[in-house]
Amino acid sequence: MSGDDHAKKSKDEDLERYKDLLGEAEEECAACGGRLELEKVNLEDYQGGKLYMMEQVPAYVCQECDEIWVPEPIMEEFEKMIETAKRAGAHEKNEESKEKSTRKIKRHKEGK
Ligand SMILES: [Zn+2]
Repeated sequence: MSGDDHAKKSKDEDLERYKDLLGEAEEECAACGGRLELEKVNLEDYQGGKLYMMEQVPAYVCQECDEIWVPEPIMEEFEKMIETAKRAGAHEKNEESKEKSTRKIKRHKEGK
């Protein structure tokens, strides 16, 4: 067995990986019925007076109304990251994020 080279991680491969992870997802915007595309977005959340950010995560973006639907596995990952950051008590530098437009987040609601 020969050692494989490190696979080149392209953004597309990354998205494909998530697509695989997410499995079959809704492709219709629950707000307007528009078409959803998997895109990379920045998530942000205020908890305990602190702003936590996670950049370049895949989420479904409505091509019609720009609404963002964050898949559950991604939200879990984001929340996990926040918990980790809380425990570490790390002060993250997010100053440069000002120029980036961060869109509002809506949880991807699954019908129960
Ligand atoms: Zn929409």
